[in-house]
Amino acid sequence: MRQVVITHLHTDHAGGLSHVTGSRVWVTRGEFDRATGFGGRVLGYLPHRWPKWWRPEFIQFERRALGPFDQSMSLTKRGDVLIVPTPGHTPHHVSVVVQGDVSFFLAGDTSYNQTLLLAGKVDGVSPDPRVTERTHERIVGLAAERPLVYLPSHDPDSKRRLIERAAIDVRSQLRASSTSRRSAREARALRTSCGDHGDVASGRGVPRR
Ligand SMILES: [Zn+2]
Repeated sequence: MRQVVITHLHTDHAGGLSHVTGSRVWVTRGEFDRATGFGGRVLGYLPHRWPKWWRPEFIQFERRALGPFDQSMSLTKRGDVLIVPTPGHTPHHVSVVVQGDVSFFLAGDTSYNQTLLLAGKVDGVSPDPRVTERTHERIVGLAAERPLVYLPSHDPDSKRRLIERAAIDVRSQLRASSTSRRSAREARALRTSCGDHGDVASGRGVPRR
């Protein structure tokens, strides 16, 4: 295992750090600072349980766009495995995109499952729901551009989607949202991501920071 990306430092995502030896371990400076010390403990992180020897490397984003994401950092020379900023659940949360004919979105806790992503439902942990909503819109926007398998850490269905390479079917979700009485926000998020006239490749209308 050469490289490990910590999406965020909540203890259910960082509890195995003591087993990660001999690998480069990436985390954002913002997430590390938020989780460190007494302030981190107040926020529910457990920095005193991290291995004393642990020295992460800090993610440096570049202005290298991936669909609706305007920044990324490549983990490979080929540029096919990218870290992208996905703030929301925590302010400096990141995800990893493995690109191929089907791409995989290693989502951490951007949402607890795919249904909540597509419903535009924000978890109770997110400090600012609007930030999470923008991240959800970017993920759905990326899924509208290319086959994208969405893999949140806590989704019991992630394993099946990974094995079956089951991409998010954004268009059928949009159709479903227009024929049922789902929330207006869900319809808006999907419509924004798809574009009103099917111009999905541009990501037009997806808010950018
Ligand atoms: Zn978390």
